[in-house]
Amino acid sequence: ATPTAVMVATGVGAKNGVLIKGGDALERAQKVKYVIFDKTGTLTQGKASVTIAKVFTEMDRGEFLRLVASAEASSEHPLGKALVEYARHFHFFEPSETKGLENNNKDSCHSGWLLDVSDFSALPGRGVHCSLDGRRVLIGNRKLLAENGVTIPTNVENFVVELEESAKTGVLVAYDNVLIGVLGIADPLKREAAVVVEGLGKMGIRPVMVTGDNWRTAKAVAKEVGILDVKAEVMPAGKAEVIREFQRDGSVVAMVGDGINDSPALAAADVGMAIGAGTDVAIEAADYVLMRNNLEDVITAIDLSRKTFRRVR
Ligand code: ADP
Ligand code: MG
Repeated sequence: ATPTAVMVATGVGAKNGVLIKGGDALERAQKVKYVIFDKTGTLTQGKASVTIAKVFTEMDRGEFLRLVASAEASSEHPLGKALVEYARHFHFFEPSETKGLENNNKDSCHSGWLLDVSDFSALPGRGVHCSLDGRRVLIGNRKLLAENGVTIPTNVENFVVELEESAKTGVLVAYDNVLIGVLGIADPLKREAAVVVEGLGKMGIRPVMVTGDNWRTAKAVAKEVGILDVKAEVMPAGKAEVIREFQRDGSVVAMVGDGINDSPALAAADVGMAIGAGTDVAIEAADYVLMRNNLEDVITAIDLSRKTFRRVR
């Protein structure tokens, strides 16, 4: 393609909210064989919301949720934010005998209802950890609890499996090393996700999903969206490794992602595409920025490259 053709294509992209960082990136996209999608925030809306909270001990429901919110209050993770939001909603809008009158004014009381925690830490790919009154609070997945020697009773495990089979993420809560409750979180697919997956298939491109979430939830979501290749329970550092696996036979690989966790993979991919609504780090690491936060633009980008470079062959 002539420099003029590349410039025209870049302009057409920009007009459609597809920002292309250079002619090389534009050229590589025509040869893409695999498009690897991050799950949370990329295939899904990234609008996680709690659908169910189940307490497995004597603890009062309001107290359980207060504990969860207090532990997750410093979390930057979308799951953490969803948990706090749900607990906050429960606290301020559900009547409860244990709730003090002073806490009923939702305008003047933003964080006054939260308990003081110490030693907060976010554990990437697993959850959060903190101390409350000298007791340990753990909120996250099975791996987190296993690493800390907390056993998951069979009835709890069955409940989590049920959530996961319906495409929800089960979040486990342990207090003082005892499993006290589980919350189910749903994050709906983007409306265009399934159509885009199908469209890529028609273009001879293989869609793949990669996620830090557990296998059962990952497979349920993949099935909904029509993706056959799934890599789940991938630790944040492992996403770039997944890219390199697909590149091993010389295939050109695109990665589509939005989060901080995705930036090493976006950089490792031949074509990194960041969702415009994503984090700055992801946008920095990518070759393409999809400003509209619409997955159809993955196809637009590849089409544009094909049209620009095939014409002159
Ligand atoms: P993804 O690749 O889907 O964005 P992450 O690597 O961020 O996933 O997280 C993987 C898993 O770790 C989540 O599915 C969840 O089970 C657990 N997790 C991470 N952060 C939190 C948190 N703040 N609270 C509870 N669970 C969490
Ligand atoms: Mg993500």
